[in-house]
Amino acid sequence: MKHIVPKTIKIFKTSFDFKDIKEEDIPEESKEVAKDVLKSKNYDDNYDIMVQTSNNKATFGFDYLYKQEKKFIPELDPSVIYFSSAQLFSGMIYNYKKELLKNSFSLKDITKNKSNQSLDDTIKQFEIFFQFASSYVIMLSASLEAFVNKLIPIDYIYTTKEGIEKDIEWIHRQSIDFKTKKIIPNCTEKDYTIEYESKYEEILAIKNFRNDLIHLTPKNEITNTKYKDFYRKVIDFKYSEAIYSIKHYINYHEEGLIEECACGNDFYFDLIKK
Ligand SMILES: [Zn+2]
Repeated sequence: MKHIVPKTIKIFKTSFDFKDIKEEDIPEESKEVAKDVLKSKNYDDNYDIMVQTSNNKATFGFDYLYKQEKKFIPELDPSVIYFSSAQLFSGMIYNYKKELLKNSFSLKDITKNKSNQSLDDTIKQFEIFFQFASSYVIMLSASLEAFVNKLIPIDYIYTTKEGIEKDIEWIHRQSIDFKTKKIIPNCTEKDYTIEYESKYEEILAIKNFRNDLIHLTPKNEITNTKYKDFYRKVIDFKYSEAIYSIKHYINYHEEGLIEECACGNDFYFDLIKK
């Protein structure tokens, strides 16, 4: 997958250039507000800050006080940033997996007391593979979660089977399964979980894997080590498919939000020795 274009949370096309607005056309009240915001050393989020980019697009952002000066930082869509991180981690997962499996020694070699490489090398290779794989899965899940939460309107009320009304704060605390199955189809009037049932299963698998990673619990009922099953799963997981499933889910609800960059450059995270 190509690297991902960052998106601001709110952007719209304007029919005019901000520079063409004449001083006398700006209401006095607005001028006062602007002056206050500039002077103040506090943040006042009752006002939005909008900047016009080239090609007459207006985008929103926030102010940040840096060395006594207010800076404008564009407010980016976090689900796209997380997704982009996952894409950057994805670049090397299979290289490290291949390196690990190719170079680690077989049980047969251990019994013969000969091996291709030192155990230290294998330990390092497994560690790096696991770091990239786990970061990728966690970032993909974070992307989905941020996106789903963003889709639910702030004033949305969910009514339970018992007829009890639940507000947005309660909804935010529910599982991603519940949100994607019950809440999102209600808010958007279309149901991904039915329309793309098998793809949705893949999404749940990513989410379950993320939960295993975050709430990792040792299992040592059988032998004296704790993570055999879990680590085999880490090696087996279908990493390349996962990112396309999440992209599909997001773009199904917000067309074009996850956009691969057409610039032709390839970016990816890797381990660099300084
Ligand atoms: Zn690019």
